[in-house]
Amino acid sequence: MIPGEISCVVWHISCNLKCKYCYNDNIVFSEHGEYSYLDILDFLKYRKDLLTAVVLSGGEATMHDLRPFCRELKKMKFKVKLDTNGLNLKRIKELIDEKLIDFISLDFKATRDKFKIVTSKNSYDTFLNTLKYLINIKFPFELRTTVNRDLLDEKDINNIIEVVFCIGYNNIFYIQKFLQTESNIGNITQTKFINEDLIRKDLLKIEFRN
Ligand code: SF4
Repeated sequence: MIPGEISCVVWHISCNLKCKYCYNDNIVFSEHGEYSYLDILDFLKYRKDLLTAVVLSGGEATMHDLRPFCRELKKMKFKVKLDTNGLNLKRIKELIDEKLIDFISLDFKATRDKFKIVTSKNSYDTFLNTLKYLINIKFPFELRTTVNRDLLDEKDINNIIEVVFCIGYNNIFYIQKFLQTESNIGNITQTKFINEDLIRKDLLKIEFRN
């Protein structure tokens, strides 16, 4: 969601991570999407007066070259938000440089020592470079972490809050609840919830959601 906008979500197939808690396994592992960009543009053409924004989500939308689609969205005057895990800085930069996106929701998956456990890849530093880039250019974005208490505990969350505060993030930090489904990629459960009282709230504005 972009604050204040009425949006639709375009779910993109494929992902460069395999997060244990991910419940979009049908999208992550899909090889063929159900709609083409032309189908979606056609859909949007008749809803220009109802919608004001389009969210590019997935899977990981930056697995695809989003520019041609975004150029069309911009011609139609839509705001565009990108949901991303932040691993593909090259594609994110291309979109920003061409002014094709207006807002980003960036996932902070885990602490350095747990990044691979949670996501299947040791890409903490790659992610951090994207985070620093967005802060440096003052791009409008929000940070969010999905928490399964068996994967990330209060100490881990506080470590993330301290890291992002220290590198200059000053927007809201969202803590999202793990959603257990029959299809979480890591086939995981959760034996207890985080204790919200133990989460640091003195550095950033913290919001718990979902
Ligand atoms: S939760 Fe992880 S695996 Fe699922 S779509 Fe997002 S980045 Fe990919």
